[in-house]
Amino acid sequence: MSKKKAHIIRSSCKGCHECVELCPSEAISFEDGGACIDPDRCTGCGSCVTICRFDAIVLRT
Ligand code: SF4
Ligand code: SF4
Repeated sequence: MSKKKAHIIRSSCKGCHECVELCPSEAISFEDGGACIDPDRCTGCGSCVTICRFDAIVLRT
């Protein structure tokens, strides 16, 4: 079974940067006005899903 990772829903991301600051694995960068997640660094901790006020991040396999 593959582990869940965070994914950005680009159409919902408002560019607030909060998830970028928060991620303990430094897996989230900011590109072209929106957040971008490196799946190789993401541990699936879910912190970014909780902090995003715009429901722009989901955990999925
Ligand atoms: S917290 Fe949500 S809205 Fe803010 S940059 Fe991250 S994904 Fe975008
Ligand atoms: S799930 Fe955790 S490790 Fe993955 S991008 Fe979000 S905060 Fe970072």
